[in-house]
Amino acid sequence: MDQQSLESLITFDRDHLWHPYTSMRDPLPVLPVESANGVRIRLADGRELIDGMSSWWAAIHGYSHPALVAAMQEQAATMAHVMFGGLTHEPAVELGRLLLAITPDPLTRIFFCDSGSVSVEVALKMALQYQHALGAPQKHRLLTVRGGYHGDTFHAMSACDPVTGMHTLFAGSLPRQLFAPRPACRFGEAWDPADIAPMAGLLERHADEVAAVILEPVVQGAGGMWFYHPQYLRELRRLCHQYRVLLILDEIATGFGRTGALFACEHAEVVPDILCLGKALTGGCLTLAATLATDEVAGTISAANPGAFMHGPTFMANPLACRVALASVRLLLDSPWQDRIRAMEEQMRAELAPAAALPAVRDVRVLGGIGVIETREPLAMARLQEFFVERGVWVRPFGRLLYLMPPYIIRSDELTRLTSALVAAAREGE
Ligand code: PMP
Repeated sequence: MDQQSLESLITFDRDHLWHPYTSMRDPLPVLPVESANGVRIRLADGRELIDGMSSWWAAIHGYSHPALVAAMQEQAATMAHVMFGGLTHEPAVELGRLLLAITPDPLTRIFFCDSGSVSVEVALKMALQYQHALGAPQKHRLLTVRGGYHGDTFHAMSACDPVTGMHTLFAGSLPRQLFAPRPACRFGEAWDPADIAPMAGLLERHADEVAAVILEPVVQGAGGMWFYHPQYLRELRRLCHQYRVLLILDEIATGFGRTGALFACEHAEVVPDILCLGKALTGGCLTLAATLATDEVAGTISAANPGAFMHGPTFMANPLACRVALASVRLLLDSPWQDRIRAMEEQMRAELAPAAALPAVRDVRVLGGIGVIETREPLAMARLQEFFVERGVWVRPFGRLLYLMPPYIIRSDELTRLTSALVAAAREGE
């Protein structure tokens, strides 16, 4: 692209296009991207960046993987889309078969939808319809933990952390949910039974008005990149059974290997009543999510008035997205993903450790393919963006969190470029 076209692109973008969580008056600069291949993002000015973000957990195989490109091309030539009302197709059925084969057995019913937030809305609506069908319409609130993130649509927002989320801004429009403290016991450390006590107390007091508990298993992502003890989930599963409250696990960020298990609920050997998947489902190529439910949930909803689950988006089970998801999940299962995640984990643990001694750093933690440096003070985003780009890496911190979740195919020398940039950024904060 010539200089003039590039400038015009940047100007139009700044004047007319909204980016995630940005101002239209004073937006932070954005970098035009020309292409992306493997773990490299190529900017329009010719610079190349090593990707440390997998485009927000999604691009686990890197970019422009030939198998995924071929799947999309073949499907686009056959049928990019057809409505799912009254029609079905092989990409949806084959993807459904594969998802049932790799997720816990009791999950048997799949609702394909457009994005993570929508899959959370679908899960919440299922929980409400389920309780309604059981003759308990007063059980319509949600219980969750602080520090969570479930998406930006209204009901999903209501379950996000009440402080870092958008509760104050939308106070009049958001349903008011119940919040237990963030699980305090860390992954890999000793379990303290006191950790579950506040959640148990809330369930005991509010079981008659709670439809479901929703939380991210083991890893809280956008709400703080926090890794907690799997025993919390085992205790919670037992409590949910006891109080006849559904358990919804949001694996949108953690699914498909990121934490070292194919699904994070496997760390706890816990099966939810409803499971949300998204992001890496398509290897980051197209937007698609899935909400899986048990026979018990689906059967109860369907047995009562109005006899159907009341949701049906236009692009439900989009064939193009299902087809590339099928190719992506197969690619993952055929790859040595466990070894790759283990190697990433060991390397990040070793290379991020020196940051722990820095005065600006509060904590360093690594789990699977996720590496985090938590600082004491909030980070200066604009300056850091430049700092990372100058070092040839793409890292996008938020709040007090410098973190990495690279594509699984990253080489060790490329990962070192990312970890050293992260530690250097933490050092700058001294
Ligand atoms: N749940 C979790 C755990 C997430 O990390 C996200 C996205 N960051 C969402 C839900 C929402 O997904 P989407 O952005 O695709 O709507």
